[in-house]
Amino acid sequence: MDTANLSRPSDTEMLIGGRFEAGSEDAETILNPRTGETILKMPEASSDQINDAVSAAEAAFAFWSRTTPAERSGLLLKLADRIEAEAESFASLEALNCGKPRYLVLRDEIPAIVDCFRFFAGAVRTMQGAVAGEYLAGHTSMIRRDPIGVVASIAPWNYPLMMAAWKLAPALAGGNTVVIKPSEQTPLTTLKLARIIADIFPQGVVNVVVGRGETVGQTLISHPKVSMISLTGDVATGKKILAAAANSVKRTHLELGGKAPVIVFDDADLAEVVEGIKVFGYYNAGQDCTAACRIYAGSKIYDRFVADLSSAVSGLRLGRENDDENDIGPLISPRQRSRVASFVERAADLKHIEITAGGKEGSGGGFFYEPTVVAGALQEDEIVRREVFGPVVSVTRFDDVDQAVAWANDSDYGLASSVWSKDVSKAMSTASRLQYGCTWVNCHFMLVNEMPHGGLKQSGYGKDMSMYALEDYTAVRHVMVKMG
Ligand code: NAD
Repeated sequence: MDTANLSRPSDTEMLIGGRFEAGSEDAETILNPRTGETILKMPEASSDQINDAVSAAEAAFAFWSRTTPAERSGLLLKLADRIEAEAESFASLEALNCGKPRYLVLRDEIPAIVDCFRFFAGAVRTMQGAVAGEYLAGHTSMIRRDPIGVVASIAPWNYPLMMAAWKLAPALAGGNTVVIKPSEQTPLTTLKLARIIADIFPQGVVNVVVGRGETVGQTLISHPKVSMISLTGDVATGKKILAAAANSVKRTHLELGGKAPVIVFDDADLAEVVEGIKVFGYYNAGQDCTAACRIYAGSKIYDRFVADLSSAVSGLRLGRENDDENDIGPLISPRQRSRVASFVERAADLKHIEITAGGKEGSGGGFFYEPTVVAGALQEDEIVRREVFGPVVSVTRFDDVDQAVAWANDSDYGLASSVWSKDVSKAMSTASRLQYGCTWVNCHFMLVNEMPHGGLKQSGYGKDMSMYALEDYTAVRHVMVKMG
């Protein structure tokens, strides 16, 4: 099925205090990455419109923060039901704007998004904490978890609707109000979501503004009435958020980049590893902060692993007219494709490196790049150290477990990792030594809403999904009552 023309967005206005309005500043061109064609031009928010959105969120906070968990839960469940009911059109729109195969959005992303809202609808009704009691004679102490205020949520382009869900669900469940800015490249599904939200939530609880990071984003995060900034994005953007937050000591929640190490021991089930990396090194064309992109392969299996992986990824299908036949889509933009290509070119210039699969741009008007294997990479190589954010996997040979663990940890990033071995105790002891927010054993990239997702080091801090996210979006308070 060709999805390129299946869906044209009808919801293109921002949501500000219950009103829908177009931005009044410069227009951003929204592209279809599969064809390179312009979908539409979307004007971005003005400073006044951003201010109106924050003011609306601030006004709504007065009553939304006083609602009961059950009331908030009920609305989140309604939102989940509506997304589920409109799964097909959300999937079409996400496929149009991101170039992802539509069937994968429908199969993998939409159910996880629906479940995210349902999870937080339930989770907020079951929060637990320290025991109230008399820790000072004659005084009763209790712990409260209260909402923080207006949250500015800034989302990236790789999973637009899912990132909106990860940000909105815990923030709203916790009693906060939100102004969310989707990526300027992929605003369409968040704007569609805004229409549904406006039907369900009181005005001002959720506001959506669109535009570029350096203009709309920067104005939003610098607003004095914003109490917390939540970003999923690049490390460089995270640093800008921290600088802006420092002015008025705002809370920050940062999910930044990644460069996931994958340790494949000699005793791993090679067929299983190859199948796993073929999927999770290249899913979403590798535009994934947890992508299995930095392989350390044991010296005994290294040659066979490189050969088998290269042959497997050469079979990945992309750029076909019938989108149901594609395993991966294009990159998000010509700029991102040039960035990926230049990483591979610089790697290929090194004598010790061999490009054993891919290494070229795809043909046609879309921003395709062939699934690529960079073999023979050394620990100090740029391709091993920097986040490429494309369908490119490096393979490095290691001799013993200490070397593999040291190299895996020798990174500015600390988001996700995996260990592959049939020896459970070796896998477990290796997992315990890795400095990553998540380590998978004999799998990669498996996310569930009950478990946290978030990083260490320059991958940021703060957790998405799970009860930990609900904790991040609420403040611990102590109330002490003198008795008698
Ligand atoms: P990006 O940092 O360029 O943009 C992310 C968002 O930040 C966009 O909405 C952008 O407009 C906004 N932004 C940029 N500059 C800003 C500023 N000065 N002030 C306020 N907002 C600003 O990232 P991207 O290119 O959209 O996404 C790719 C990056 O996101 C990768 O590094 C990837 O690893 C990371 N990512 C991380 C996770 C995670 O969970 N850790 C998940 C997905 C993506």
